[in-house]
Amino acid sequence: MHVAVINVGDEILAGDTTNTNATWLCDRLDERGVDVERVAVVPDRIADIARLVNEYRAEYDAVIVTGGLGPTHDDVTMDGVAAAFGREVERNPDAVEWLVEHGGYERDDLVEGTSHLPAGARVLHNDVGVAPGCVVDDEVYVLPGVPPEMKGMFEQVAEEFAGERTHTVVVTVDEPESALLDRLGDLRERFDVGVGSYPGEYVRVKLKDADSEAVEAAAEWLSERVDVVETEER
Ligand code: ATP
Ligand code: MG
Repeated sequence: MHVAVINVGDEILAGDTTNTNATWLCDRLDERGVDVERVAVVPDRIADIARLVNEYRAEYDAVIVTGGLGPTHDDVTMDGVAAAFGREVERNPDAVEWLVEHGGYERDDLVEGTSHLPAGARVLHNDVGVAPGCVVDDEVYVLPGVPPEMKGMFEQVAEEFAGERTHTVVVTVDEPESALLDRLGDLRERFDVGVGSYPGEYVRVKLKDADSEAVEAAAEWLSERVDVVETEER
């Protein structure tokens, strides 16, 4: 399964908010064997959201959009997603019902727009905050921006994201990356597993495949030939 993530918010583009939602989603999706192929940040602007949602839903199996829900003036995500499908946003009776029953709101006190979702959407209730999310055509998942709300809502639909579970071993190596090139080349010739190399204070070599034995064998081969700091299995 191939997925794209879109994070909406001027505050992310201005550097005021760190995009931890993207990192968290990528991690959870990767754990489930799902390939995230794109992460994009867009401003709070209906046309930009609509254009990218449309591009990505044509290309990937699912699109996850976070942020910009609720009734404030800069919350335009639902409008953008609705526009991508050529639909209107409308008051969603399920969302209203749930907020009255579980949120302790009086029907008439609900701020106009709080429960407005794209027409025909499946509502996702917000156990942590107020603004509901939704799923449109089992394809576009719209989640809140506030991290605990986003996480809680993703868990409600996590089962809908599935792929081949992969086995990963990360070997942390205390050698310059340039010095490792020959051994990484050999490794790739000998073993049919994904090899990623991520330099930092140390070089993290990430070995990944559905075949756990192949990954273990590759990790062992490499560990015998480099200066290992630590080995981590996932
Ligand atoms: P609300 O219903 O409370 O308005 P929302 O879904 O509209 O929530 P936003 O208004 O987009 O969410 O963002 C609310 C706050 O959540 C932001 O000020 C920011 O602190 C945090 N937030 C938003 N997007 C992200 C993100 N991608 N990563 C981390 N935090 C985020
Ligand atoms: Mg908001």
